[in-house]
Amino acid sequence: MIYMDNAATTMPKKEVVEAMMPYLTENYGNPSAIYQFANISKAAIAKARKEVADLIHVRPETIYFTSGGTESDNWVLQEAFHNAIRNGIKEPHIITSRIEHHAILHTCQSLRELGCQVTMLPVDHNGLVDPRAVRDAIQENTVLISIMAANNEIGTIEPITEIGEIAHRAGIPFHTDAVQAFGQIPMDVSKMPIDYLSASSHKIYGPKGVGFLYINEKQKTKALLHGGGQERNRRAGTENVAGIVGFGKACELARNSLEDRMQRESNLRDYMINRLLKEISDVHLNGDPIKRLPNNINLSFHGIEGESILIMLDMRGICASSGSACTAGSIDPSHVLIATGLSPEEARESIRLTISDTTTKDEVDQVVDALIEITGRLREMSPLYS
Ligand SMILES: *Cc1c(COP(=O)(O)O)cnc(C)c1O
Repeated sequence: MIYMDNAATTMPKKEVVEAMMPYLTENYGNPSAIYQFANISKAAIAKARKEVADLIHVRPETIYFTSGGTESDNWVLQEAFHNAIRNGIKEPHIITSRIEHHAILHTCQSLRELGCQVTMLPVDHNGLVDPRAVRDAIQENTVLISIMAANNEIGTIEPITEIGEIAHRAGIPFHTDAVQAFGQIPMDVSKMPIDYLSASSHKIYGPKGVGFLYINEKQKTKALLHGGGQERNRRAGTENVAGIVGFGKACELARNSLEDRMQRESNLRDYMINRLLKEISDVHLNGDPIKRLPNNINLSFHGIEGESILIMLDMRGICASSGSACTAGSIDPSHVLIATGLSPEEARESIRLTISDTTTKDEVDQVVDALIEITGRLREMSPLYS
């Protein structure tokens, strides 16, 4: 098998699984208990919190473990809305973009039903949000600006420092969904105008079902889940100790390898993109060619359905993805590609290949060769292509 769907999830590292094992077996103490046995779990969480915090250069006290990126995104948006309502703002306003993950977009949709105003900003051809558009969208009742650090489908890295500065000049908190950027590109959050940041373990070679929300000390955010006093009274529920330990280990590994990984992956990415653009006709690259995650390749092949390519890749043991989602048998084109200006037909012609830190040049060559053959065959059969 060749796995090129690392934006969907990654393979947990061996060291990660090994670090977790004792907390799935003998070290099962509840971290909230007072005996020494429980302290083993408590200390393991503290160590993991520090590893996580170090990766983005913040204090461990600002990290709140959650069940993943989705929960972190829900938490920050829902609490911004409810807090505004508590403070007497009748129709709170949130600014976000059209290319956010569904964890953001569908949460906004549900808040709209409760009376929230939402502005979903457009993006340019490459998927970039214009900071000036953010500034122009600010209203008196704007309570949160949420723009992703990097897009999960097309890999575009957004100008979040500029956007955060605009938010802060207007006195509005800034959140970034950094699930794709965290551990993949350097981020010194201590020097960035960020109040909230969401990240997830399983996108950086850690286990699934764990993530965090970074909350800047200045923010008074209330809990999303109520119950016990875990996570400094802000996120109740007995901790996912093994998951948190695994996440901590993944962050330690990610921090030590960050520069090398970025270099290696972006070289492989560019090699793959160049081969595909040169050796297959009528292909175009989606997303920004420069401001791009090191592991992301997203291409449209004119005249062929992305889904057909994916099925034929799968028959060769190659895992890739498209941005589109199947709903009730019909294939919805990706909202991200549509936002970059592609027609629904063009959006359905795309596939996403996301490499990992262990992807080899040989694997890249095999996938490119397979794509040359597959696209050639599909185009021969296609009435759409001439
Ligand atoms: C994967 C992803 C999420 C969701 O994270 P989970 O931990 O799977 O809930 C949110 N945002 C982005 C950009 C993602 O890529």
